[in-house]
Amino acid sequence: MEQAYDNMSWDALEQVLQMFGIPVKMIGLIMKCVKGARFSFNINGKASKWITTANGFPQVKELQYLGVQLLLRRPVRADFQFHIDSVLQKLNSWGEKGGRNLHLAVDRAGPLKARLTWRMIQKLESLFSRVITAKYGDDVWNIKYKSNTSVAWKVLNEGARYLKPLLRWRVANGRSIDVVNDVWLLDMSFSKWPIMADCLGLEGLKLNHFINSNGSWKKEEFLCYFNEDLIPVIIQIKIEYEMLEDFMEEIHSLYGKTIIARAYETHYRSKQDFEAVSGFNSWLKKLKMMARVEVFWWRLSRGVIPTNEFLKFRKIYNDDQCVRGCGEVENMSHITSMCNHLREVLKKIHEWGIFVPVFNSMEDCLSELKCPSMTAPNVVILYFNDVYWNWKNRNEVAHGKEANTISATAANVLSTAYLSSNPLIAS
Ligand SMILES: [Zn+2]
Repeated sequence: MEQAYDNMSWDALEQVLQMFGIPVKMIGLIMKCVKGARFSFNINGKASKWITTANGFPQVKELQYLGVQLLLRRPVRADFQFHIDSVLQKLNSWGEKGGRNLHLAVDRAGPLKARLTWRMIQKLESLFSRVITAKYGDDVWNIKYKSNTSVAWKVLNEGARYLKPLLRWRVANGRSIDVVNDVWLLDMSFSKWPIMADCLGLEGLKLNHFINSNGSWKKEEFLCYFNEDLIPVIIQIKIEYEMLEDFMEEIHSLYGKTIIARAYETHYRSKQDFEAVSGFNSWLKKLKMMARVEVFWWRLSRGVIPTNEFLKFRKIYNDDQCVRGCGEVENMSHITSMCNHLREVLKKIHEWGIFVPVFNSMEDCLSELKCPSMTAPNVVILYFNDVYWNWKNRNEVAHGKEANTISATAANVLSTAYLSSNPLIAS
């Protein structure tokens, strides 16, 4: 309206209507409607304030609802700048804690999409499903984006990704079911369960490969690929022959929980598992140290190194002090950061002109070294080797041997850390 009526007077409108030969009575009615009329917009069920027109509409330049401009043209980025600014301001003031909350909000977006996808799959007769499948097909599980893929389809695809771990296929003809990667037996796909099936041989096969045209299982065919013990479990799966297509069901009943809540839980759990596994282990591996140093640190991170504190706790040994006479309890933090002998060696290496870090606890050491393990791995490798050589020598001391000198240990640390060669001084 704004654009159409811009700069046009009502008299001009009247003249135009006359030109078209509209009956005078009719023109009179139309002019009564527009001239001097008051307007009110119906916004979400509520009437807006009265707007009095004068000489057309140009008065009504901006209309806002909930801070969003109501426009008669397609909104552009600039129209939202006010909101972008205020959100950024919020984010910046939230600090670290707020940052975490933001991640949670992002984590929730996927599960919300999962609900949308679930709705589409469950109600195939709904207008929504019919429109979507007519436009994009029904294979929402197959995630292949082209540059022109619509946002709607991407959202549904994303939802499918979150939904998938919660669902299992019910077999009608097997044509939609990927034998290795889909869940159709119990609650896991064979890709996560490779011992029971020849996953390489099954790669790319659909389940209809194992179904006769009369809707029964091809038992002999299973013998080629699956563990014998598994076959009785498979063939007790009912083939829903009367259904036209394979369909999905929920693995666990929902009992009071929405599909979003479940999708979120599963997503979050797998994320946590992933973080636990990928944390220390992955960056430890990337350092590519000598195998025994790596194994030693892996055991340290799991808390399975027999320090004196540990041995005393297990009532194997009754002195929990450091064997090198530091006068401190020998625990993980002591052997990884506090032990005097360790620090003496680090000091020596420092004197030789090489940077070395110093820590006050094992937690400190692991969290502080995570970043440099990527950016400056040599520092980390040096430190890890030092702790290893000290522990090795500590065991020798504990069994009555002489302690290595500081310089000898420092030389061993450098040669194993930097030259990937054998220690200079055998012990
Ligand atoms: Zn010590």
